[in-house]
Amino acid sequence: MIEQLEQVEKQALAELEAITTVESLRTWRSTYLAKVGPIAEISRGMGKLSAEERPRVGQRINAVKQSLQGAYDALEQKLIAEQRARELEHDRVDVTLPGRPAPAGRLHPTTQTLREIERIFSNLGFTVWESPEVETDEYNFGLLNFPPDHPARDMQDTFFVKMPPGSPKVVMRTHTSPGQIHAMRKFAPEPVRVILPGKCYRMEQVTARSEMMFYQVEGLAVGENITMGDLKGTLQEFATQMYGPEATIRFRPSYFPFTEPSVEVDARCFLCSGKGCRMCKYSGWLEILGAGMVHPNVLRNGGYDPERFSGFAFGMGPERIAILKYGIDDIRWFWSGDLRFLEQF
Ligand SMILES: [Zn+2]
Repeated sequence: MIEQLEQVEKQALAELEAITTVESLRTWRSTYLAKVGPIAEISRGMGKLSAEERPRVGQRINAVKQSLQGAYDALEQKLIAEQRARELEHDRVDVTLPGRPAPAGRLHPTTQTLREIERIFSNLGFTVWESPEVETDEYNFGLLNFPPDHPARDMQDTFFVKMPPGSPKVVMRTHTSPGQIHAMRKFAPEPVRVILPGKCYRMEQVTARSEMMFYQVEGLAVGENITMGDLKGTLQEFATQMYGPEATIRFRPSYFPFTEPSVEVDARCFLCSGKGCRMCKYSGWLEILGAGMVHPNVLRNGGYDPERFSGFAFGMGPERIAILKYGIDDIRWFWSGDLRFLEQF
């Protein structure tokens, strides 16, 4: 019997050796340490033993049981500890790692500049007003005093919208100036002070200096006793707020059909302060916008009596304003969608 017992113990310990999971350890216990099994069976045979042999064998049985239970307990502890360690390793979080930044979006430089222009003119008492991007030839040209043979009305320069025969000629607006007529007709004979931001379209060769689609911001003020001095004061204030207290502007005579007199407005070069550099082509000045006093014909078309009312108008490109403010070398960057450009603003 003792031999049998030792055989069972040896086998049980050998099997235990190979166990690597808690599940198979539990199976092992139900095989060797439960109420049915090889050891229990050997115990039942004790009845056949003599009174002298019985205690010796009994002790031996107990010793084997204890040794197996001890081996079981030790292995169980070890396996549970290992399993926990594996779980911890798997779910490990390194709290010392730096966080992953969420990429933040931003406004397009044109939008930023548009908003800055709108903010400045709002503070000067102008209302932001919008007008359609598709206009009749009459609004885009005729009511703005363009003569019928003006080159801008040519197919080569303007996008015409295909219309059914007999309809009025319709164009993608080439400037925001038709908004002047819309605004005057809306407010006349009350005084009006608006800026009109929006997209314009011209059939242009795309170059570093011109795009087919571009933004413009038109400004218009009509009332009694409005003079060129008001125009100059307004634009000087705009330049100061946009480019800083050092900004200086000057007027140069020019020509637009819808203003008389007309001027080009230059700002003293921000880069060289007027000494002359590559940016200003060594003139010391940068052209920023066109302006003038509203032509009497245009005032009349808008519903004002030019004998009583006068007004000024100006038009600027926010891309051009931004180009000068940030020293950008190519207008095509604005529509390139290139993040290397956009992320600088
Ligand atoms: Zn310069």
